[in-house]
Amino acid sequence: MTKSKLTTDQLAKQPVEQFYQTLQTDQNGLNDDAAELRLKAVGPNTIQQTQSRSQFKAFIKNFTSLMALLLWVSGLIAMFTGMLELGIAIWAVNLINGCFSYWQEHAAQKATDSLKKMLPTYTHVRRNGVTKQIDATELVPGDVFTIQAGNSISADARIIAATALQVDESALTGESVAVDKVPAYQKGAGKFAEQNVVYAGTVAVNGTATAVAMQTGMQTEFGQIATLTQHQKNTVSPLTAELNRLTRQISLIAIMIGLIFFVAAIFFVHYPVAKSFVFALGMIVAFIPEGLLPTVTLSLAQGVTRMSKKHALVKELSSVETLGETTVICSDKTGTLTQNQMTINHVWLPDHEYTVSGEGYVNNGQIQLDQQPVHLADHPALATIVRVAALDNDTEIQAENSTKPKIIGTPTEAAHLVLAQKSGLDLNQLRQRYPRVQELPFDSDRKRMTTIHTQPNNAGAIIYVKGALDGILAISDQLLENGHARPITAADITKINAANQRYAAQGLRSMAIAYRNFDGSQGLPADTADCTIQNTEQHLTFVGLTVMADPPRPEIYDAVDKCHRANIRIIMVTGDSPLTAKSIAVKIGIDSEQVRVITGDELAKMSDSKLQAAVKGEVIFARVAPEQKYRIVKANQHNGEIVASTGDGVNDAPALKQADIGIAMGVTGTDVAKDAADMILTDDNFASIVAAIEEGRTVYSNLQKFLLYILNSNVPEAIPSVLFLFSRGLIPLPLTVMQILTVDLGTDMLPALGLEAEKSEPGIMDQPPRARTAHLLNKSIIWKAFGWYGMVASLLSTVAYFFVNYLHGWPHVALAATGNVYVMATTMTLAAIVFCQIAAAINCRTQVTSVFKIGLFSNHRIWFGIGFEIILIALLMYVPVLQGLFNTTGIAGRDWTLLFCIPIPLVLIEELRKAVVRHQIAK
Ligand code: ADP
Ligand code: MG
Repeated sequence: MTKSKLTTDQLAKQPVEQFYQTLQTDQNGLNDDAAELRLKAVGPNTIQQTQSRSQFKAFIKNFTSLMALLLWVSGLIAMFTGMLELGIAIWAVNLINGCFSYWQEHAAQKATDSLKKMLPTYTHVRRNGVTKQIDATELVPGDVFTIQAGNSISADARIIAATALQVDESALTGESVAVDKVPAYQKGAGKFAEQNVVYAGTVAVNGTATAVAMQTGMQTEFGQIATLTQHQKNTVSPLTAELNRLTRQISLIAIMIGLIFFVAAIFFVHYPVAKSFVFALGMIVAFIPEGLLPTVTLSLAQGVTRMSKKHALVKELSSVETLGETTVICSDKTGTLTQNQMTINHVWLPDHEYTVSGEGYVNNGQIQLDQQPVHLADHPALATIVRVAALDNDTEIQAENSTKPKIIGTPTEAAHLVLAQKSGLDLNQLRQRYPRVQELPFDSDRKRMTTIHTQPNNAGAIIYVKGALDGILAISDQLLENGHARPITAADITKINAANQRYAAQGLRSMAIAYRNFDGSQGLPADTADCTIQNTEQHLTFVGLTVMADPPRPEIYDAVDKCHRANIRIIMVTGDSPLTAKSIAVKIGIDSEQVRVITGDELAKMSDSKLQAAVKGEVIFARVAPEQKYRIVKANQHNGEIVASTGDGVNDAPALKQADIGIAMGVTGTDVAKDAADMILTDDNFASIVAAIEEGRTVYSNLQKFLLYILNSNVPEAIPSVLFLFSRGLIPLPLTVMQILTVDLGTDMLPALGLEAEKSEPGIMDQPPRARTAHLLNKSIIWKAFGWYGMVASLLSTVAYFFVNYLHGWPHVALAATGNVYVMATTMTLAAIVFCQIAAAINCRTQVTSVFKIGLFSNHRIWFGIGFEIILIALLMYVPVLQGLFNTTGIAGRDWTLLFCIPIPLVLIEELRKAVVRHQIAK
């Protein structure tokens, strides 16, 4: 392809034929080979991200934290005051720790980055004359593609045909008022003002259009400015804020304790200042929860990865915590609670009810009347219905293989196409005989769609309408009977509504079909091109109903049950009719028969305070416009609820943004909705929301387990120093500074990480949502860490110290802080702490459930961590260089046996405590 050197404006000005020639394309689009060649030539249609994060800065950051600085300084002091080995060791530990933190952050970043790749944008493009769905990155100049309300526009393109197209260009211009785009060229004032050009990075908010791509990727206007304005937004999530606060508070306490120790070491034990300083710093470092933030980030990122495997893509890490707090889910019905596998199983006419056999989108049934096959020629009214179903339709079914056809469009319309097929119509032939001249696209406010067609044999144009019954009845004044239109009567309307209600009560959803002759009467314009919603959708002739079944998703029953046990309320918000909505809600167990159904009209008249009162109880919203969802979300939030809300359309965006968790449908959702949402469901399934909430709760609970684990070892790390100080140095230090660092930054690291991979504890969805005000580090954890786990470990490690001394003739031999016995005793103290931590790792895995029930070995990472811990401590004991640095020595086989016995009673005692707690909960 010769690359055109014309500017966008010049291209937009050319006559259409010449324009096609310049881009070497036509209305049928490119063929696949040409498209492939062009893709090679111009590259993929993507905006390249400039690497704005400096990896180097991110790396260095881990060595300049408060704790790291303390360690650098204390290492330096140690080096200059004759404790060279200690100084080097402290630095080494600091280095390892910093690298580890960096690795955690990096891994977390990688996890979130890879999620972005899982959110593709699709474009419907014409290639070889057929419409197909491609990844927007494969779009090339010359491609003819269609735009629908809700699509994000992925190339700079010229409009060839358009109906009521409006584009939000705020991403480019900052102007949030949507602008009209039409096929005719007009320059307009300023940049981006060409009326027949749409730009990449903007979104269609209304209407439909066909466009031809002129520029893609970095060649687009958006690509040109994107390079200038790319920046990463860094919002501080509530959890991060809390962690920062927590780290600061604990650090402050640690520094205070360190100061006390420093003074006590000088005055009680008469240590030299430098030695006292290093000693005190050891304590400070032991207490500062240095690895907390990177660990939490990684843990959230891992949670996000796990969620993505359960079909929930989360955009920001902070959503993980909000999910765990969710108290109310405002959910769509169609496709979220139901399968969105519409099948028309009845066609209702005032004088007949036809049944349609066969299931789903596979064309394997037929239309019957009293169990006899129907021939359309004998049933003119049915023939009209079928024709409207086929023609007033923007969907295509591509039968790639007969079992699972691909739908380009919506399931509701696909069901209507299948109806036409089942009646024996040839769709292509029909479309040629009744070419479409105008469309008034579906929107969820009108809840209907209109198309205008020319009829064969010079019969003039005809207007076809399909949509929600109530709306269509309101604009119909005729009824088709025995092939003739006659004025519609009150009795007719009663009869139609009765039929509709009978279907709705069975959970079926019906759609009304109507038509109007384009005969210039009653306000119709002279030209079909001037048809608008206002002048066209009136004086209709009502024909009948198409009745669809959309069965609930099979997983829904379980998910709803889980929500109820977890005290999460579900509020159905649907555009469907009140009765259908209620029938489905009762069927899947969301609501009881007593549920209050509020319609969109009622809602519009309700005051905010009435609405707030209403959403406290059992309630369903039906026939609502998407804009009204926003009010429902707000009313719930006013009541103190944490609200998750689903949405798919353009007009759902405000509600999605307002909700604490906005959830967009990945399959049927528009790009606008996906953009506004915090989470995207790749399978549109309500059950995936519940799975994500469960995962959110699990991540939080695992963080608490992690916190409990790392905090509890602080006690046995501190107690030896307390003993030493309070005996005025009479009892030599049972645990040296380097040994404290070993536990804190060495052996604890991997088992702690293992805790974050813990699966959901059974019963996690049997608890009410945690309060927004709840603290990560709550009283129960503080008590358990310091008063229970920590105390036991201190006791055992102190016993270990004195026991070794006792074996070697305490007190005479061991009072000196040197010599073989002393080293042996400190080694045993260290090892005892490590083995207590092994028990703690196992005990922290559950809050109340028995670890034997979830499987003692079910978390491999914990055991990997424990294995690492034991190897590390053995290395410290037996590798000569390390022995010197860490003040350790080899121990006897008998001592090892003793150590390996430590965890057993600890785990068993804790199991007993958990059993008691379980018993209390059950009561
Ligand atoms: P829900 O909130 O359950 O997802 P929708 O917003 O999809 O419902 O649809 C609301 C109503 O709009 C439907 O009950 C139906 O009457 C009408 N409707 C839906 N899709 C179409 C369509 N393609 N053409 C005409 N009317 C439609
Ligand atoms: Mg919908």
